[in-house]
Amino acid sequence: MGRVTETTDDLSLRDVVAALERLYPLDTAQSWDRVGLVSGDLDQPVRRIHLAVDPTLAVIEEAKQAGADLVITHHPLLLRGIHSVATTTAKGAAVTELIVNDIALYCAHTNADVADPGVGQALAEACGLSGTQALEITEGQELGRVGDLPEPLGLAEFARRLHEALPRTAGGVRVSGPADGTVRRVAVLGGAGDSSFEAVRASGADVYVTADLRHHPALEAREEASLTGGTPYLVDAGHFASESLWLPGLASRLVTELGPAAARLEVHVSQVRTDPWDFVLGAAAPEHTQGDHA
Ligand SMILES: [Zn+2]
Repeated sequence: MGRVTETTDDLSLRDVVAALERLYPLDTAQSWDRVGLVSGDLDQPVRRIHLAVDPTLAVIEEAKQAGADLVITHHPLLLRGIHSVATTTAKGAAVTELIVNDIALYCAHTNADVADPGVGQALAEACGLSGTQALEITEGQELGRVGDLPEPLGLAEFARRLHEALPRTAGGVRVSGPADGTVRRVAVLGGAGDSSFEAVRASGADVYVTADLRHHPALEAREEASLTGGTPYLVDAGHFASESLWLPGLASRLVTELGPAAARLEVHVSQVRTDPWDFVLGAAAPEHTQGDHA
């Protein structure tokens, strides 16, 4: 049963969903993805929106404390089939918390990755790039970005500047390559990017900024690079950190897209860091990592 919007000044969830789907059309998501509205009633009013990378229980609690009517996340809550929404599982508890607290959930995932501006663009800007091109075309959509820095930088200085632009996480930024290696052409892909090395090599990038670099794909990429002058170097910026850069831009674009109707709308970016790691042991300081793997 639909509800009546309380006052005519309020935006409805229907208005916000329509704006999101103009910015991030559903048909630009990858075929395996599950994007769009997860919970909520299209007629419910939306006065406060909470933005986050992941719809974790902590994010939902934060949204509830903030009085949010809608949570928009990058990652889907329900990517694979579940058989219960009881509070006996974390996903069930998340769905239940959302519904009993009248909080809608909307996910813009691979459709936000390929948007321009989208997740890739935000990461490219944090790397100091402008005027980028697509790194690759996947299912007809442009994924990742590649472009040139205004001037060449040492690899360590490039990584330091990116680190400054990222939220702090326990894992920090990991780099493969010599600290004084020269970087000019940069390829970026927010989130898990170790399936795209072929496109990175084809792009002529000196460095590839992505996340979730598994041992074998990363090591094999470095082995290939060793035969061709050492590039592309690798920067693992962290999955959460690399994608969180998109959220402030989402907030401003959504408000702009909604126009005057958004005058009373509040949009907040979550302060919860949904990176799964809490601390590290034994990490070496940058001065001890000179790219010598011997
Ligand atoms: Zn991701």
